[in-house]
Amino acid sequence: MIIDFHTHIFPPEMKDRRQDYLKDDALFTELFSSPKARIATAEELVSSMDDAGVDLSVILNAGWTSHSDCVRTNDYILEAAARYPKRLIPFCAIQPKAGEAALAELERCVRGGARGIGEMRSDTQGFDMADKEVMGPVAEVARRHNLIFLTHASEPAGHQYPGKGMITPDTLYRFIQVFPELTVVCAHWGGGLPFYALMPEVASALANTFFDTAATPFLYRPEIFKHVVEIVGPDRILFGSDNPLMSPRRVTSQIESAGLSQEAKAMIMGGNAQRLLGWS
Ligand SMILES: [Zn+2]
Repeated sequence: MIIDFHTHIFPPEMKDRRQDYLKDDALFTELFSSPKARIATAEELVSSMDDAGVDLSVILNAGWTSHSDCVRTNDYILEAAARYPKRLIPFCAIQPKAGEAALAELERCVRGGARGIGEMRSDTQGFDMADKEVMGPVAEVARRHNLIFLTHASEPAGHQYPGKGMITPDTLYRFIQVFPELTVVCAHWGGGLPFYALMPEVASALANTFFDTAATPFLYRPEIFKHVVEIVGPDRILFGSDNPLMSPRRVTSQIESAGLSQEAKAMIMGGNAQRLLGWS
């Protein structure tokens, strides 16, 4: 079973009238100002999954600044997942600074089928992930409902690109240390956080942390698969593409050619995700 742990869909009106939405949100402006930046609806995502042989996708929301944008887009994600219950798994977005309203929204999303929170963007959303006052209640709801917390991550080195941001390994590490019980998925290889797992204390702090491979062809040489498997183990890596930013095939063909064992490949392509999501 092939599970893509990192995809995005947006409501059709945001695709059709992207100019109207651009001005409202800093992240949306940064990601989608270029008319070439792809936006997919649920139908388009499912059809690209069929083309690429992907069985199941985690559909992520985005790190909206305003609470109302989170709610509006969560509605679409939950509705889409209800229409494709065997193909799409919904993750919802919250603005933690909205306090009680954010917690109520999280509870609403759980009732609507959400299995996680993400893709969160503490940098553009303007909160400190390691702040117990803001994030403690969110982590508590997540614990109660077994939700996975998926955050964007940024490389502190290398080229700039739209949406890169500032959620670097040090920020992620502080967050993980404050909330060790939380199941965390760091997108885009955690901005390089797995490399620090060569330090024994970092390795033990990452006991509940996973890394997705979203957008790898834009960021790293394919050898990253072999190296991170050696450092953190194949059980911590989740195949993700960032579809529709790129076809899932671009990442699966990297995985195919990375020289991994059959067993490691099967874990990365879907086995780990299946276990994490409790998908039978
Ligand atoms: Zn991201």
